[in-house]
Amino acid sequence: MDSADITADLSEVLYTKADIETRLAEIGAQVDRDYAGKNPLLVGVLNGAVMVMADLSRTLHIDCAMDWMAISSYGMGTQSSGVVRILKDLSTDLEGRHVLVVEDIIDTGLTLTYLMQNLASRNPASLEIMAMFRKPDAMKAEIDVKYIGFDLPNQFVVGYGLDYAGRYRNLTDVGILAPHVYS
Ligand code: 5GP
Repeated sequence: MDSADITADLSEVLYTKADIETRLAEIGAQVDRDYAGKNPLLVGVLNGAVMVMADLSRTLHIDCAMDWMAISSYGMGTQSSGVVRILKDLSTDLEGRHVLVVEDIIDTGLTLTYLMQNLASRNPASLEIMAMFRKPDAMKAEIDVKYIGFDLPNQFVVGYGLDYAGRYRNLTDVGILAPHVYS
């Protein structure tokens, strides 16, 4: 679905499918250069990173592997719960691997801070982050993000893998959820 299918549910469209494709091609070219000959392991964080993982990985011309983790985050609301729990762990041993964590969005950064500490303890050769979206005004943790898609205003957005109560993940654009949907 695209934003025209749900016009009343969005107060603003921030990035279109075309914007996202263009930016991912640029990031993919950087990843190709940085990881040439290194067979990186892309670690996706379920469920939000499904779209960015699928699209970023297919821009790459180098070999890469993929694995997935699920951690608890927002539940059904729009506020960070602060509770982080591993619901599904990786199947891959990270020892000596070049790991690139692929994230949908960094809001407070609390989830990712926990995740990075956990992954670093598994002795990867390198550990970096690619995040499709970031809300700089909401960040509460210092996180070094190597590749960033777009910065967002401090508002609740949906689309391109990001849901509200399970909806809108399949929206190809990204927009601000209209308050009437959740109030
Ligand atoms: P953080 O720990 O950085 O505050 O939260 C990260 C997680 O919260 C993301 O992976 C995502 O699941 C969720 N999240 C944060 N901001 C938004 C948003 O604007 N929209 C949606 N749909 N999820 C968000």
